[in-house]
Amino acid sequence: MILILLGPPGAGKGTQARRLSEGRNLFQLSTGDMLRQAIKAGTPLGEKVRRQMDAGQLVSDEIVIGIIADCMESKDCLGGFILDGFPRTLAQAEALDRMLEEKSCRIGAVIEMQVNDEELAKRITGRFSCAECNIGYHDQFRPPKQESVCDECGGTEFVRREDDTEETVVARLKAYHEQTEPLLPYYRAQGILLPVDGMAGIDDVTRQMNEVLDAVKTD
Ligand code: ADP
Ligand code: ADP
Ligand code: ZN
Repeated sequence: MILILLGPPGAGKGTQARRLSEGRNLFQLSTGDMLRQAIKAGTPLGEKVRRQMDAGQLVSDEIVIGIIADCMESKDCLGGFILDGFPRTLAQAEALDRMLEEKSCRIGAVIEMQVNDEELAKRITGRFSCAECNIGYHDQFRPPKQESVCDECGGTEFVRREDDTEETVVARLKAYHEQTEPLLPYYRAQGILLPVDGMAGIDDVTRQMNEVLDAVKTD
């Protein structure tokens, strides 16, 4: 199955994509993670990406579509995959449709994670992750069980994203409302948009997602 997680920054896409990926054996494709890797690699492209990301703006469609097109060729994706953070603009959604058409594949479901802006700001500013295994945590909502030790891998080093600041939150939410929200009617019109209440707790959201996905007919 090809699954899209659609929601504003901080909605819980990464958290849930990881769980669904494990639970349903789907490969997770996170454009945010891929872009951060490009930055780490220190290439001129990475430098351009860093400037856009740090300003809370979307990275250009051309760059992101190119990255996704490459990834979809990987054999990891053959058994189905989850798109976490892509598409984020109508141009990206249309490019994805064209790529899938070429492969005679189609999107199984688009899960819309509904969370209000006030909650998003809290989630973003309290977010951190394990430097070793990349699993996400939150100061208040999802601290490690044992302080400073990763539940998953036992790692003791954690990182915070440079763009997870109160200043960028405003720009990122604006970008979401202006550029990404138009995808909701786009997918609703295709009958594949499945809303879930993203304000609920992490386990509850996973449960809702599994419930709506179990009802999706696959072929
Ligand atoms: P996204 O990938 O959509 O930006 P994340 O999955 O990184 O979102 O989640 C943002 C932050 O909120 C993280 O710190 C995560 O631990 C926390 N979080 C995720 N889902 C929930 C939830 N349902 N309730 C409370 N906090 C959550
Ligand atoms: P979040 O969901 O919290 O915004 P992501 O890791 O998905 O976190 O994205 C971080 C940043 O990476 C975005 O603010 C944007 O600059 C860039 N980015 C990620 N995915 C895309 C995309 N599909 N199109 C354009 N920019 C993207
Ligand atoms: Zn870890």
